[in-house]
Amino acid sequence: MMNNTFQEDRAYAQWLDEQDPLKAIRERFYVQPNEIYMDGNSLGLASKDAEKALQNMLDIWKNEGIKLWDGLFHYAGKLGELSAPLINAYPDEIVITGSTTTNIHQCISTLYKPTKKRYKILVDDLNFPTDRYAVDSQVRLHGYEPNDAVKVVESLDGRLIDETAVINAMTDDVALILLPTVLYRSSQIIDMKRVTEAAHERGILIGWDLCHAIGAIPMDFKDIQPDFAVWCTYKYLSAGPGSIAGLYMNRKHFNETPGLAGWWGNKDDTQFELKQQFEHQQDASGWQIGSPSFLAMAPLEGTLNIFNEVGMKNIREKSLLITAYLMYLIDEKLERYGFSVGNPREDHRRGGHVCLEHKEAYRICKALKEANVIPDFREPNVIRLAPIALYNTYEEVYTLVEILEEIVVEKRYEVFSNERTLVV
Ligand SMILES: *Cc1c(COP(=O)(O)O)cnc(C)c1O
Repeated sequence: MMNNTFQEDRAYAQWLDEQDPLKAIRERFYVQPNEIYMDGNSLGLASKDAEKALQNMLDIWKNEGIKLWDGLFHYAGKLGELSAPLINAYPDEIVITGSTTTNIHQCISTLYKPTKKRYKILVDDLNFPTDRYAVDSQVRLHGYEPNDAVKVVESLDGRLIDETAVINAMTDDVALILLPTVLYRSSQIIDMKRVTEAAHERGILIGWDLCHAIGAIPMDFKDIQPDFAVWCTYKYLSAGPGSIAGLYMNRKHFNETPGLAGWWGNKDDTQFELKQQFEHQQDASGWQIGSPSFLAMAPLEGTLNIFNEVGMKNIREKSLLITAYLMYLIDEKLERYGFSVGNPREDHRRGGHVCLEHKEAYRICKALKEANVIPDFREPNVIRLAPIALYNTYEEVYTLVEILEEIVVEKRYEVFSNERTLVV
């Protein structure tokens, strides 16, 4: 649907909700009455499906004790299988384990084999900082200094990363690349296929951080063929605070020995022989380290069932429409008050959230919370708004924009003047 077919009144938002093929899914989530939740890209809402899966896991523990291993020995791999359709990867290339950050350490320590000539890791300067901390410490562990061995592609405007600049930075001294698929602040989608192909043409390994992409945009790993990828499951995937993360390892690396080995990466058939010699399980589950945390993984089983039932194509379709609608209302109603859209507008270049910029973003976020709207603020001037395809409505988007307008017209954010004021 084109922007200019949208209309500005509430009745139109209600009409969009009536037409919404996903409207029944909202009932399966714990949406608080009288609250507009626009932060599902930071911590996705709980669902009844997730709750049921967690309760089921508790029951298994209660009823079976240690016998639970009989049925659950491959649970991390089973969740990997359920995750595979989201990125169109082979099921054995995915395991649910660790956190995003530990999985970055695991993948890099496995694949980063610096030589005298090729020893740098290429990153961008807009990625979430934990990725950078991990990369810096990995080069240090190999005896390098980050200011030499970590090569940084700089954003020209603080919002976007230019793929051509990334490709130009792929010089002969670069061994490995780590980039985000969707930038956490500006929502930009980096063209994974183009950048991955360029890396491989130059003999460079490349991994992607999918934290803001998984569950928001469909990806085709069989086509893209990255070397590795990592993601958290508590954002769009709604698996709960601190839920267990995802790790993708391309089949072509199954014979690599994990950089961080542990007994849960040992071959299934010899794991309980408990030998002193590690024998690597040659699929993604071989990159597990210690015992899987079933209670922290179970909710993901529930939400992955929702994702597979609805399908990423339908999720993306609604996400594009509802974010386009939000941008339309911003243009129509808020631009005049100093708001602007900071994310790319083209469908193929924007992820699941809208990056709303305003010089008073910090205080406006405070005022939004006071009005029972949950946004999130990102330095220095960004209000992130994520209308989630599975549980947000067009009418909520309409009301959100109405509240934003009231806040600036009535200068309601000024009561927070003691806390902070920022001019950028
Ligand atoms: C949310 C996020 C993380 C979080 O890392 P954890 O180890 O899961 O805490 C890492 N990287 C990116 C790009 C993120 O958006």
